[in-house]
Amino acid sequence: MTAYPELALLIDGEWRRPARRIPVLNPADQSVLGMLPCAGPDDIADAIAAAERGFAKWRRVAPGERAKIILRAAQLIRERADEIAYVSTLEQGKPLAQSKLEVLRACSILEWDANEALRLYGRVIPGEQGMRHIVLREPIGIVAGFSPWNYPVSSPSRKIAGALASGCAIILKASEETPAGSMQLAQALIDAGLPPGVFNLLYGTPSEISEALIPHPSIRLVHFTGSVPVGKHLAALAGQHMKPAIMELGGHGPVIVCADADPVATALASVAIKTRNAGQVCVAPTRWIVHDSIYDSFVETAAKRAAELRMGSGIDGDTDVGPLANPRRVEAIAALVEDARSKGAAIAAGGNRPEGDGFFYPITVLADMPSDCRVLHEEPFGPLLLIQRFSDLDEAIAMANSLPFGLAAYAFTDSASNADRLMDGLECGNLSINHFVASLAETPFGGVKDSGYGREGGVEGLQSYTVVKNVSFKMRVA
Ligand code: NAD
Repeated sequence: MTAYPELALLIDGEWRRPARRIPVLNPADQSVLGMLPCAGPDDIADAIAAAERGFAKWRRVAPGERAKIILRAAQLIRERADEIAYVSTLEQGKPLAQSKLEVLRACSILEWDANEALRLYGRVIPGEQGMRHIVLREPIGIVAGFSPWNYPVSSPSRKIAGALASGCAIILKASEETPAGSMQLAQALIDAGLPPGVFNLLYGTPSEISEALIPHPSIRLVHFTGSVPVGKHLAALAGQHMKPAIMELGGHGPVIVCADADPVATALASVAIKTRNAGQVCVAPTRWIVHDSIYDSFVETAAKRAAELRMGSGIDGDTDVGPLANPRRVEAIAALVEDARSKGAAIAAGGNRPEGDGFFYPITVLADMPSDCRVLHEEPFGPLLLIQRFSDLDEAIAMANSLPFGLAAYAFTDSASNADRLMDGLECGNLSINHFVASLAETPFGGVKDSGYGREGGVEGLQSYTVVKNVSFKMRVA
């Protein structure tokens, strides 16, 4: 069995353990896994100074050499995948198989960005005789990254991969509730030969760190993944200091299930996807908007399957659904379900918090929901399937677009005409038709409306880590 690591900050290539500590809990049984050292003002200042030195060196390392280090780190992470996944399940809760997939996903992100950064080309624009306009694409500078607790390995990897591949340095504040994942990524990068100071890792009081980093003149890009309210706060701070930002915030994923879809297969796939991270996913499908003609069959199948799922510690091999990551989510989900129940929604499966230790809440299927249920308007970020009905596709698209969120949307149909109307009409950053995969290393991912702006992943994501400099070069004409 793998031991939970001794937690630390990483500053200038050295692990550092300040005296102020906070506990990290195992969400499956509430035991203390470790004590997390917290950065004070001196640690934050040291991280900035280290990143300044690191960036000055790293930006001059040839892209091919940068790629070699990142690819070597990805290989080490692949070799350590079982160990990293085990630790991730301990601190975050999701079943081991899901943690392993997350670790492999982090590798594919590092690999794709490392390779694609070899193609961050500029261009030459011809001018009058003797004049060349040269468009250079340069690394933007030091990135302040903020990653949340739901994906302790793959969410940090998005920020780290984009920054390092494009020649930037990064100071990452990962989640204080799931700190080990970023440490393991950092260790692999150190072992692969990353120079000190290029990647620095901080934990502590989130507001103290973001308020020190974002206004600092050496920080040139803010990349945050988390809730809409915190995202708006940090985006305002970034704007005040003229810093560009990538904001990956919340969602309320609609799933439009058209009359021509298979209600049984779609319901089974829907329950299965809800077990992923117990629904604590920004792109989680949340509101199923199902055609009248297949609604009853869809609800019945989803409820039956949800009731069969085994809930337990993610370490146990036969667990389908792990605990929620923290007590805040259990309280929030229980309150949303009680509100829906009190307003007359049907609880087709789940709906009751189990007794005992651990932050558990079952996959819960809610149907026949009055429109004033809070959960139809607020992001639940948990194990809830909300099922509504529609009779006309325009009505379904209007229901999907009615919230201020616009991250991921899903639809099930075999009709090309329906698919075309959905592609055209849905307000979202990512639309998946007939499946539930919202993003890959090579595809751009991000939101519209309150779900944020900027993209991570794909060429678009990598370009966010660069700035364009135009050089007009006039030569003496012979
Ligand atoms: P929260 O709003 O308190 O925190 C969200 C994240 O922001 C956490 O990782 C936290 O450490 C960080 N944070 C908070 N204040 C900060 C500050 N001033 N500076 C820098 N970072 C700060 O909510 P929570 O209870 O941790 O999570 C619940 C909500 O967060 C969910 O409802 C969901 O909307 C959102 N969330 C979204 C994602 C995502 O992938 N987009 C991931 C995790 C949580």
